[in-house]
Amino acid sequence: GAADAEFDVLVLGGGPGGYSAAFRAADLGLKVAMVERYATLGGVCLNVGCIPSKALLHNAAVIDEVRHLAANGIKYPEPKIDLDALRGYKNKVIGKLTTGLTGMAKARKVEVIRGLGRFLDPYHVEVELTTGTGQEKTGQKQVIKFKQAIIAAGSRVVKLPFIPEDPRIVDSTGALGLQAVPKKMLVIGGGIIGLEMGTVYSTLGARLDVVEMMDGLMQGADRDLVRVWQKMNAHRFDNIMLKTKTVAVEAKPDGIYVTFEGDAAPKEAQRYDMVLVAAGRAPNGKLIGAEQAGVAVTDRGFIEVDKQMRTNVPHIFAIGDIVGQPMLAHKAVHEGHVAAEVAAGHKAYFDARAIPGVAYTDPEVAWVGVTEDEAKKNGIKIEKSVFPWAASGRAIANGRDEGFTKLIFDAETHRLIGGAIVGTHAGDMLGEIGLAIEMGCDPTDIGKTIHAHPTLGESIGLAAEVAEGSCTDLP
Ligand code: FAD
Repeated sequence: GAADAEFDVLVLGGGPGGYSAAFRAADLGLKVAMVERYATLGGVCLNVGCIPSKALLHNAAVIDEVRHLAANGIKYPEPKIDLDALRGYKNKVIGKLTTGLTGMAKARKVEVIRGLGRFLDPYHVEVELTTGTGQEKTGQKQVIKFKQAIIAAGSRVVKLPFIPEDPRIVDSTGALGLQAVPKKMLVIGGGIIGLEMGTVYSTLGARLDVVEMMDGLMQGADRDLVRVWQKMNAHRFDNIMLKTKTVAVEAKPDGIYVTFEGDAAPKEAQRYDMVLVAAGRAPNGKLIGAEQAGVAVTDRGFIEVDKQMRTNVPHIFAIGDIVGQPMLAHKAVHEGHVAAEVAAGHKAYFDARAIPGVAYTDPEVAWVGVTEDEAKKNGIKIEKSVFPWAASGRAIANGRDEGFTKLIFDAETHRLIGGAIVGTHAGDMLGEIGLAIEMGCDPTDIGKTIHAHPTLGESIGLAAEVAEGSCTDLP
C-alpha cells in the first residue's frame, strides 16, 4: 500500500493540472501517487468550473437560439424549465467525466489517495484521510514518501470580507448549484465567470445588474470584441456599473441590499433577490505546508516556477492556478505535462506565448496570443486584419452575423502573433489560430489553406486574405 511505499512522484491535487501530470508521469514509467481531498477527481474544472458551467450554458444557448428563430417565422412557446432536471443533467455530465478520470488513473496504476495533504519536509507529505462524497475526515493519517513532487493544489473563490453568510448570496459554486432563478440578480465582478453564470440565469429569466471596478467588462479581451458582445447582451442587463465598487451588502428578509461607490453607483442601496460574487480566485499556496518543504510562496499565495515548472526547491514542481495567471484549465494541463516530463528526465519547457482565453457567452468571445491592447502596451508593431461576419455567407444564413474574426501579424516578420473571434462557436474555431501562431504562419499560409465553404471557420482564411490585400469577397 501507499503507507510504506516510496513514490517517484507525488502529485498534490487531482484537478486538470494534477491528473494531467500524474497520468503523463505514469505513462513515462514513474510510480505515481495523487492526493486529492475530494471524492471525485477533476478539481474545480470538472466539478464546479469549466464543465458544469458549459453544461448549463449549452442549454441556455439553445433556448436563446430558439428565441432568435421567432424572427424567421418559427415560434415556440416560452420554455417550461424544470430546475431539478436541469441540475440532474449537469450532474450527469460531471459524473461521466469524473468517473472516466478514475478509470484512467486505475489503468495507469496511479495510486489515488483521498485526503488533505500537507508537506512535512522536502520528501514527505502527510495526508489526513477523507472519505465519502465530501471531504469528511476519517481521523486517520498517512505519511507518503516521495522522490519528486508536483504541487497542483489550485485556487479557491475570493471571499469579500463585508459580505454576510446568506443562501441568497452565492459564489460560482453556489450559482452552479442552481437552486432557484431570481427575479433580480447582481453579479459582482464583470469577468468571464460572472458573465457566463449571468448569461445562464438571465436566459432562465433573471434580470441582471453587474458591477465591475475596472473600466470595462471581460478584462483581457480587446474592446472591439467586447463591444459586439455587449450590444448583443444589452437586453439582459438593467444596469452595468463600471469603475464602481461594492462597499456594503446587507441581508434583509425581503432581499439583499447592496451599496455601491464610484462612477456608476446608484445613490441608494439596491435590492436583489440573489447576488453572485465572482470577484476573482485566490491560489492555495499557503494552505499546503509548502514552507516546511522549503518551497517559497508569495504573499498572495502563488508559487513561483521556472520554465520547467520547478519551484525554488529543484525536485518540487508546481503547476496550474497555483503558479499564476491565466487561471485556466488548458494552461494547467500543459504545465502538468511539462512538469511530469521534466520529472522523468526529459528536456521539456513551458513557453506560454499563445494561451487561448474564451468567454463561453452568447456570442462567444475568444482570443489567443498577442492582443491589440498588449501590442500597444508593449510597443509591438502589428498589422491587423479583420473579416466581418456580415460578409460571411454562413453567419448570415445562421442569422448571427454580428461577429468578426481578427488576425494580428507582426509588422516586420508578417508572421501571425495573435488572433481573436467574437461570434457563435468562436471558442471552437480558435484552435486554428493558435496552431497558426505556433507554426509561424504568414497571411499566405493561412489564406491559401482551403477552408470549407460556407463555414464560420472560413472567416479565418478570409481575414488572412484581407491581410494579403486579395480578399475575394466570397459571400
Ligand atoms: P484545481 O482545479 O483547483 O484543482 C486543485 C485540486 O487540488 C482540487 O481538486 C482540490 O480539492 C485539491 N487540493 C487542494 N489542496 C489540497 C490539499 N492540501 N490536499 C489534497 N487536495 C488538495 N478554465 C478554463 O480553461 N475554461 C473554462 O471554461 C473555465 N470555466 C470556469 C468556470 C468556473 C465557474 C470556475 C470557478 C473556473 C473555471 N475555469 C475555467 C478555471 C479552471 O477551473 C481552473 O483554471 C482549473 O481548474 C485549474 O486547475 P488546477 O489543476 O490548477 O487546480
